Amino acid sequence: MKFGGTSMGSAARIRVAADLTAAQQRLRPTAIVVSAMSKVTDLLLDTLRHAENNDADAIAQNVATLRARHHDTARELLDPAALPAALAEIDSILGEFERIAKGMQLLGDRPPRSVDEAIAVGERLSAILIAAYLNGQGTPAAAINSARVVITDAVHGNATPLLDLTRAKAAEHLAPLLAAGTVPVLTGFNGATADGKPTTLGRGGSDFSASIFAYALDAAELWIWTDVDGIMSADPRLVPDAKVLDEVTYAEAAELAYNGAKVLHPRTLAPLVEKKIPVWSKNSFNVAAKGTHIAPALSTPGQGARAVTSMANVAMVSVEPASAEIPGTRIMARALDALALVGAEVLTFSSSSYRQSFCFLIRKDELQVVLQALRETLALELEHGYVRPVEVDDNVGLIAVVGEGMRGQAGLAGRVFTAVSREQVNIIAIAQGSSELTINLVVPRSGIEKAVKAIHAECGMGR
Ligand code: ASP
Ligand code: MG
Repeated sequence: MKFGGTSMGSAARIRVAADLTAAQQRLRPTAIVVSAMSKVTDLLLDTLRHAENNDADAIAQNVATLRARHHDTARELLDPAALPAALAEIDSILGEFERIAKGMQLLGDRPPRSVDEAIAVGERLSAILIAAYLNGQGTPAAAINSARVVITDAVHGNATPLLDLTRAKAAEHLAPLLAAGTVPVLTGFNGATADGKPTTLGRGGSDFSASIFAYALDAAELWIWTDVDGIMSADPRLVPDAKVLDEVTYAEAAELAYNGAKVLHPRTLAPLVEKKIPVWSKNSFNVAAKGTHIAPALSTPGQGARAVTSMANVAMVSVEPASAEIPGTRIMARALDALALVGAEVLTFSSSSYRQSFCFLIRKDELQVVLQALRETLALELEHGYVRPVEVDDNVGLIAVVGEGMRGQAGLAGRVFTAVSREQVNIIAIAQGSSELTINLVVPRSGIEKAVKAIHAECGMGR
């Protein structure tokens, strides 16, 4: 089971998480993966920025805030007998953090490997807290820094696990605990390279950690505890009658995650697919709700489109060869190469017209790097006028309509487009792959909400 930042956000929440853990542990061997307490990772990162800028007062203030939050939680949570040891552990971990921050202050720099070591502290602190509480309640538990178990490549800040090596480490360090009836309490978010350099898996990466552990331990199931009732047909803040989906397939869940639904970290599902490990997305604030079951296939074949997501922080980049004589495929290949070079993710891609102009959507925060890479890669073509100046529209949004049951359904795309146009929202670009799992629409940002509501209603996705 994995508990996210809000599910670990206070002593009261940690008690709930621990009770859920203990209840499962009575039934079968259980391991848990925990996030940092809510907002802690942000605060850690903020501290490191202050360190780089040589702001000693701000560092001290943040560390005091972190210490108070974890000390207060420990006091509220733990028996007097268990408290001193927990407070000492918290102080020792925060001491490590302070030392790294001081080092950055001296350097005037934030080396990525030190950042990764420092920000994993949030997860280590919350693991200490819940493990101490579980032990106090009679459920044997051991807090484990996942840097000892999850082996990754060396891409700091966005590392990828090396699953075979991780599996071996899990067999060595975790299997004995499970066999002895002890709950391994694993830090989410972090890992280390094979030669021991600390890494992290990207923001929100604890889901991914949980799926890596589920894979490495051959788990029967993975339960992801969050603060919403499951995967929904739409963002309930945009669409009041959005409903929780009882079940979605791995493919649907992945599409929803990549297209902006915030229930799962996008990379989470990959390790689970191979072993067909089912996932439950559940709400620790509403444990009576069933949640969403994510599995290889639906028990009742899906009917049509089932969910609609949107993303606002995106930008559309358009590239157009200047004449039909220019080999458009070559230009396209080079543009995509430039994107791959800087590791930018293409959210949607569309091309049309005999001149082979094309456009693609990327995250807004990647725009500057992408533009620079494109201009460098296409420098000659741009200089000689073979390619028109690259155009950017950063006032757009992406909408994704998702559902296994859309495959082969004639008329569905037509209904979606008609619903959107009825709201007077212009469709700027369209993409649907031949898997027919997702239809992507690019619309003006101001039209996102209206379009999402219209599609949700037209496809009867709501309650
Ligand atoms: N604590 C990390 C973050 O805030 C990882 C996670 O919460 O999943 O990004
Ligand atoms: Mg989180």
